[in-house]
Amino acid sequence: MKQRVGVEPRVGVAIVMVSLLAWGSASAVVSDADILNDARTTHDVVTAGLGTQGQRFSPLAKINTKTVKGLVPVWSMSFGGEKQRGQESQPLVHNGKMFVTASYSRLFAIDVKTGRKLWKYEHRLPDGIMPCCDVVNRGAALYGNLVIFGTLDAQLLAFEQDTGKLVWKEKVDEYSAGHSLSAAPVIVKGLVVTGISGGEFGAIGRVEARDAKTGKLVWTRPTVEGHMGYRYGADGSKTEGGVSGVTNASWPGDLWKTGGAATWNNFTYDPDTNLIFVGTGNPAPWNSHLRPGDNLYSCSTVAIDADTGKIAWHYQTTPHDGWDFDGVNEFVAFDWKGKDGKTVKAGGKADRNGFFYVLDRGNGKLLNAFPFVNKITWASSIDLKTGRPVYVAENRPGDPSAAADAKKGQSVFSAPSFLGGKNQQPMAFSPQTGLFYVPANEWGMEIWNEPVVYKKGAAYLGAGFTIKPLHDDYIGVMRAVDPVSGKIAWEIKNYAPLWGGALATGGGLVFYGTPEGHLKAVDAKSGKELWQFQTGSGVVAPPITWDQDGEQYLAVVSGWGGAVPLWGGDVAKRVNFLEQGGSVWVFKLHKS
Ligand code: CA
Ligand code: CA
Repeated sequence: MKQRVGVEPRVGVAIVMVSLLAWGSASAVVSDADILNDARTTHDVVTAGLGTQGQRFSPLAKINTKTVKGLVPVWSMSFGGEKQRGQESQPLVHNGKMFVTASYSRLFAIDVKTGRKLWKYEHRLPDGIMPCCDVVNRGAALYGNLVIFGTLDAQLLAFEQDTGKLVWKEKVDEYSAGHSLSAAPVIVKGLVVTGISGGEFGAIGRVEARDAKTGKLVWTRPTVEGHMGYRYGADGSKTEGGVSGVTNASWPGDLWKTGGAATWNNFTYDPDTNLIFVGTGNPAPWNSHLRPGDNLYSCSTVAIDADTGKIAWHYQTTPHDGWDFDGVNEFVAFDWKGKDGKTVKAGGKADRNGFFYVLDRGNGKLLNAFPFVNKITWASSIDLKTGRPVYVAENRPGDPSAAADAKKGQSVFSAPSFLGGKNQQPMAFSPQTGLFYVPANEWGMEIWNEPVVYKKGAAYLGAGFTIKPLHDDYIGVMRAVDPVSGKIAWEIKNYAPLWGGALATGGGLVFYGTPEGHLKAVDAKSGKELWQFQTGSGVVAPPITWDQDGEQYLAVVSGWGGAVPLWGGDVAKRVNFLEQGGSVWVFKLHKS
């Protein structure tokens, strides 16, 4: 304590008090501590994932296996307008307000107890935006007195939580080159961290960290090997922050310049290791015969040091991808107890390619890998020693240049389909059961390669495809996955593909939604269905729960859409009876 020496320390004390008023954790503002503690504090939900580690577990237990049958709606609010389509957003709750994003880059602030709309923002979108997979948004971020979200024309905007007044606006990239923003940003020690969509257009994936209070860039990190990262000073200076990897080490010729590896889904952040875990999309183009090599850092989990923006480690789930197996699935921190009984600070990932991976989250070392879907054609297994897949060579789509007319390579049937064993819908982990709850899908595709040349702003695939169901009675399947044994503890089949996320609770429950419109509660241990509610449109978003003045509340967004109706081939036809919508529902226990 140095308070009693001269005049300066008093100034210091005054500054501390001002900063407490502005950024303290007491009430109106969201502090760094609020964000780091989000998983444990039940009175608010201030991050995507109910905690930056992404477990989507709430310790709340008032709604439990015994009481859940008394769960009733409190209010519902429509997003209104003619703009519906897919609603993939996770709401946030803070200081009596709910902040929820909607399709077409809209943001709503709602009184959490009454459902009264406080303000809304509708982004004016230009013609010619190119979101690959519907006009979705997965949620906002909260920091200080701000609510921040990304738009389909690749801008990042920050508003005052109380008034909806725009505080800052930054262009992340050119929408005309295929860029868009759809993920919920993550706040890491005062930085707002986001990625970029556009891998289907050859856009280079990257991670950006900005000062959350001003929107000014702090560092960037490209996710294609060979590209330079940068650091930015408060004075606007820009300095080189090192090349990602080694140019041409995993890419031939100039292909790394349009290499894809988009960073379009939500990230997680682990304070134990100070690492941001970023999932990366497919290498571009899809036709793998044009780009021999591993094509780093596509289809990977990339761990980035939050302070320096440097890559600490990477783990590539699908080296030299030929199936559009974007490795964007969230990497969820948890304590893994190996068969030797030792606990490892690990992370789990249910990859689009159909395998579930457990890695040491400090160094990226593979600890376990096993299928979480029934049919995988592209690889027979993952070699636990080398960490690499054992490919089934004949199940890679053929090289078009080997065909007689050099126009269409040999078509193969692949499973999973490119929409994946799991897609954007986030899983949950319960420390009580030790199980991951994975909204999975069983489907396949006919896929073939074609010649393709890069053209800015045009689809850069070099592939054709048709998605097909594998079973008559279901595509979706909610699975409880044991990360130690690799076994499925239980499963619940669902006719339509599952596209919403999961929530696990201290009440021994797992909540998830279905495209058929139901929000369901099931027993986390047995998978027994205990409660369901029809929300009026398909649920393709993850539920949340929190404590409001001593009562446990639950919320989920409803509104069918996303990639399935747009890209689903035969599956899209099979589920074309589903209706669009756009609303948020809130529930609590009925008072008898
Ligand atoms: Ca919280
Ligand atoms: Ca992709």
